[in-house]
Amino acid sequence: MFSLRPAPRSAAPLDCSQALAALPGLWSGALELEDLRRLRAHLNGCAECRAQYVRESQTASAIARDGRVGRAEALRLARRRQLVSLARAGRDPKPRLWVRTLVLPAFLIVLLARQTPRESFAQVEAQLGQYRLGERALFSGHRPQRLLRGDQVLTEETARVRLFDESGELTLSGAGGLVVESPAQRRYLLGAGKFEARGAHSFTTPWGVLELASGVLELDMGASGGRVELREGAAELTRAHGVCLLVPGEPVTLGAGL
Ligand SMILES: [Zn+2]
Repeated sequence: MFSLRPAPRSAAPLDCSQALAALPGLWSGALELEDLRRLRAHLNGCAECRAQYVRESQTASAIARDGRVGRAEALRLARRRQLVSLARAGRDPKPRLWVRTLVLPAFLIVLLARQTPRESFAQVEAQLGQYRLGERALFSGHRPQRLLRGDQVLTEETARVRLFDESGELTLSGAGGLVVESPAQRRYLLGAGKFEARGAHSFTTPWGVLELASGVLELDMGASGGRVELREGAAELTRAHGVCLLVPGEPVTLGAGL
């Protein structure tokens, strides 16, 4: 019989405007797994949306690299950038600009607020040396700290810091830093540093986005480039010009123009 209840969420492929509208949820970690899959499927097949995805990841990583930018400022910058990109996309007559600039953010804020209590219990601890978690300095003798979305972790030359939950682990050795994008999904914005990830992770870098589905991934990130090597398992790298699967034992160089 005909029903007025809302239809179940469609699993149809996203079009470009839907994909672009979903990007902010990717950065905030607010997307459900199924929506994430649909967005990734679109990005894999659409060079224009993928380019926008990488542009936004570059800004996000610039924020991650700059230790002086606090959480509130990072969110404000991300929001302003999103509005600018929406205004730029305003040449496309549908959906109307005001819908995208006002209603969509309000919707996302509500979505975010609803999702916050479901954050996981990802934690961080120093195995060696010290690190900063936001404003606090913490040492290897301290107990693990719970990670929240937007938290920034900065390490010193002599440090080794571990971020972990029940099924994944990310180790940062030496001087470096990152911002927690979504502790529940193990999504991180990487600054400089030497990282080793185990288990499913997602990393935003200035040169592309890395998705480790399983296994072990090593990343050596610098200011002007980086190097990624899959030790075992499966991972893929999304850049403006394409998506590539990483092959164990075959390192990939990241940098401007690549
Ligand atoms: Zn598209």
